[in-house]
Amino acid sequence: MTTTETINDTPIERPKPKDYKSDLKPVWCPGCGNYAVLNALAQAFTDLEIPRENLAVITGIGCSSRLPGYLSTYGFNSLHGRALPIALGVKLANPSITVIAAGGDGDGFSIGGGHVPHAVRRNADITYIVMDNRIYGLTKGQMSPTTPLDSYTSTTTYGSYDPPVNMAGYVLAYGAGFIARGFAGNIKQLTELFKQGILYRGFSFIQALSPCVTYRGQGEYAAIKAVSKDLPPDYDPGNLRAAWEIAENTDSEYLGVIYLNKNLVPYEERLARMRATALSRPVKPLDELMDEFKP
Ligand code: SF4
Repeated sequence: MTTTETINDTPIERPKPKDYKSDLKPVWCPGCGNYAVLNALAQAFTDLEIPRENLAVITGIGCSSRLPGYLSTYGFNSLHGRALPIALGVKLANPSITVIAAGGDGDGFSIGGGHVPHAVRRNADITYIVMDNRIYGLTKGQMSPTTPLDSYTSTTTYGSYDPPVNMAGYVLAYGAGFIARGFAGNIKQLTELFKQGILYRGFSFIQALSPCVTYRGQGEYAAIKAVSKDLPPDYDPGNLRAAWEIAENTDSEYLGVIYLNKNLVPYEERLARMRATALSRPVKPLDELMDEFKP
């Protein structure tokens, strides 16, 4: 870690974003939105001063899922669509560390879509970042669950036919307590959203709009910019009805914290209570227990 300042003549070690990055050079295409997500995440870790050994970044498969390789934290580039259950396992094995699950829209909402509702309602203290590029990039441009309607892709040569999944609405419906949306075109805001998501006690969901310039085209940044806008300054993320209105508005991509519920009990807390209850019950002798199962 880099030593940059002293307090009362005592050197204080402050990390820098580069300390959270590995020596591996990303192989993402020039201009890919994933660079911004990587930088914003490294900046968030820096600002929060989380020791690298207390961080685990778990991904699935896809361009964006290469993320752990480019970080110097603990990490696991796992199986397609399986970032969430593995992240949960990591968190249960060591609840004291900060666990980030990440991946693309296809990895999270198609291949691994079945895990999302259960991860949300379990509410473990994990931050899930979906790097939404609205296409399958690694496998050369097939339609993904968030590809906009009527888009030309390598598998929809007459235009995509399924309406895109509404991520914010989806996780809101299952009761997520922290939902945010950011854009690779605004690293500063993305960093703040990552920090808030990490600090949230429970499952936090962040949709990071991350353009695939190769398969969605060079105009993707401008296309997203044209429809995205910051949530109004007087917007109250604690208002569930307002959050639904924002989530249902698919004409605009509102950026910021869409929903925040500070009253949900995290899974770790419920588990601790359950453990205490179980341990407080008298344990029957084995013979007595076995007798209950005899015909
Ligand atoms: Fe990024 Fe698309 Fe290239 Fe993959 S194919 S690295 S998502 S620009």
